[in-house]
Amino acid sequence: MIKKFHIISYGCQMNVYDNEIITSILIRCNLLYVINILDADLIIINTCSIREKAETTVYNKLLYLNSLKKKKKIYIGVVGCMVRRLKFINNLKKNIIDFVLGPDQYRELPYIIKSIENNRYFSNVLLSNEETYSNIFPSKIYNINKVTTYVTITRGCDNMCTFCVVPFTRGRERSKSPKNILNECNKLYEMGYKEVTLLGQNVDSYLWTKETHIKKNIKKEFKQINFSMLLELIATKLPNIRIRFCTSNPHDMSLSVIKIIKKYNNICKYIHLPVQSGSNKILKLMKRKYTRLNYIKLIENIRNIIPECAISYDIITGFCNETEKDHIDTLNLMKYIKYDFGYMFIYSHRKGTYAYNKYKDNVSFDIKKRRLYDIIKLQRKHSKLNLKKYLNTIQHVLIESDSKKNSNYWSGRNSQNLIIIFKKNGEKLGEFVNVKILSYTSATLIGEKIKYY
Ligand code: SF4
Repeated sequence: MIKKFHIISYGCQMNVYDNEIITSILIRCNLLYVINILDADLIIINTCSIREKAETTVYNKLLYLNSLKKKKKIYIGVVGCMVRRLKFINNLKKNIIDFVLGPDQYRELPYIIKSIENNRYFSNVLLSNEETYSNIFPSKIYNINKVTTYVTITRGCDNMCTFCVVPFTRGRERSKSPKNILNECNKLYEMGYKEVTLLGQNVDSYLWTKETHIKKNIKKEFKQINFSMLLELIATKLPNIRIRFCTSNPHDMSLSVIKIIKKYNNICKYIHLPVQSGSNKILKLMKRKYTRLNYIKLIENIRNIIPECAISYDIITGFCNETEKDHIDTLNLMKYIKYDFGYMFIYSHRKGTYAYNKYKDNVSFDIKKRRLYDIIKLQRKHSKLNLKKYLNTIQHVLIESDSKKNSNYWSGRNSQNLIIIFKKNGEKLGEFVNVKILSYTSATLIGEKIKYY
């Protein structure tokens, strides 16, 4: 009999959220979530497929679990983005793996528990055009941070960037109803959460359509809610909760979203805007649907409308056919924008993607590494320049946890998503305080709480 379960998770926030959905479904089956893997009867691995390394990690973990399985009766399930991609899963099934589930099939879990207890292997990796798990409230027992959390608003992605596996592992885009999203945020606020991050592979393409009514001549009328309307709805209905969102796509971000961010204090002044490359040639090969100039115009709009907005990015270095000139285009774009911070990755040639089928992975690993180093070095310089601007300013900070380095200090973030550390003096987790910034390190602001402001 399966009584206790444990989840091993890899990958992005979307997987963190899916763990909460899986946990919620299994708790409804009267299973108990256990923190210690050795106490579990059922171990679920939630996988990521974004890069080669992620898949190798899972493979090694499965071999370790197999050694556990030889010592004690346990059941192993593999879920998430890898299951649709990898043949090795089939080789392992029945020996190590008891079930395989795709990201749209977690409602099958109650049936699966019965199935595997009777030694029947189970697999369902079908993608859905509808599934958003909207009527399943995610279980937060998994969530160590009781102050901030995620709420998915879309699943899947319709953009077919040539390097990306997401459309193949998570399927077509679909949006959750605004009513469900608002209810979920409201319930989280009642549970004591002070901040929600609205989550999707591409939140800017959020679009919920509801048929309103049918007139005599069968003419249908529709009501549509797009991302800026959803942001405004949550900001007005829940004025005391702080709102963030990720991930945006420069091609889909609208001016109305930027104006709504400006209009409401409880929407954070921070935008994560993956650019991937500063070269028009590479952006075209990636099918990113915007040019360098479009992107710069968007950044200028953001900075004109919300001067205090912090901006971060994703960049992939070493993409197919990337020349030194393309790389310099990327560095020059960074020099023009001077981002607050960013995430940079070496290009990983992913089987099944358009790039894998059509282009050669023709940039050597050494060059990829050197170009990545150039980007990191430049970003460090820009991050320090941006952090310096906060010296002697007062920042409104949400206390999220103890400082990692010193438990006598709090760690929290301001609206710009910057980490701020200050000495404890009787405050509580989840409290908003004002902190005067006195110094900074390469990525963190350091200050002292001020009583009156
Ligand atoms: S928008 Fe993002 S998730 Fe969608 S295909 Fe492009 S990189 Fe992948």
